[in-house]
Amino acid sequence: MTSADAPLVEARGLTRSYGAVRALRGVDLTLAAGEVLLVLGPNGAGKSTLLRSLAGLLRPQAGTVRVAGRELNRDDPDARRAIGLFSHQSLLYDELTLLENLMLAARLYDIADPRRVAEAALEAQGLLDRKESRPRQLSRGMLQRAAIARALLHDPRLLLLDEPFTGLDALAADRLRQLLALHHSPDRAMVLVTHQAGEAWDIATRVGVLVGGRWAYQAERPAELAPFHLRYQELLHA
Ligand code: ADP
Repeated sequence: MTSADAPLVEARGLTRSYGAVRALRGVDLTLAAGEVLLVLGPNGAGKSTLLRSLAGLLRPQAGTVRVAGRELNRDDPDARRAIGLFSHQSLLYDELTLLENLMLAARLYDIADPRRVAEAALEAQGLLDRKESRPRQLSRGMLQRAAIARALLHDPRLLLLDEPFTGLDALAADRLRQLLALHHSPDRAMVLVTHQAGEAWDIATRVGVLVGGRWAYQAERPAELAPFHLRYQELLHA
């Protein structure tokens, strides 16, 4: 198999405990380019732990993650460069302005001309006029957009999003949906964790339900949301 037709994401047997809490209990995940996986599950199901493991921010106690054919490894910046992460720990430093934050990130990814790329990323999120602001000076919606700018800065093939719609009003949520649809392409993949399946149902190609650190369900996205909702309730109460 060449790297061109290898899955974009291939995780095997991801296992992670925090003390006695078993957050991930042998999770596998295979995603081809072009796929968007919606991950649902109750609080504490392990969704964030899964995303952080896929992003290479957290080392699982067992299991492997390959992205774009390369095994994730802290010492391999090329594998990390394929990945963008949006999370509520926004990866933005409060002591730095937005522009400084994004320029720093651009340098970490070895991007040529960090200022131009950072400014373009802020402009795409309508934040160029706030480039001298610090994260804590921004509204919730702006902070969300800044975190998205940070996640997309290096044009990652794999975008990981942890509850990106939380705290957004309807207009901002629509905007974000459009942005994600625009960013998505046949050679990219997304994993999107959400509480509300309806928020991203239309852009998903697969749906997974994580319960107690294991997949309780994973399948192609059903056409209709309503019957899936019933199934989801059953899975939660099984
Ligand atoms: P979810 O995102 O689905 O809410 P998490 O991955 O955040 O789930 O958490 C899974 C389990 O691991 C939960 O029981 C949570 O309390 C625990 N956990 C997560 N992170 C930590 C941590 N840093 N220290 C201790 N326990 C943690």
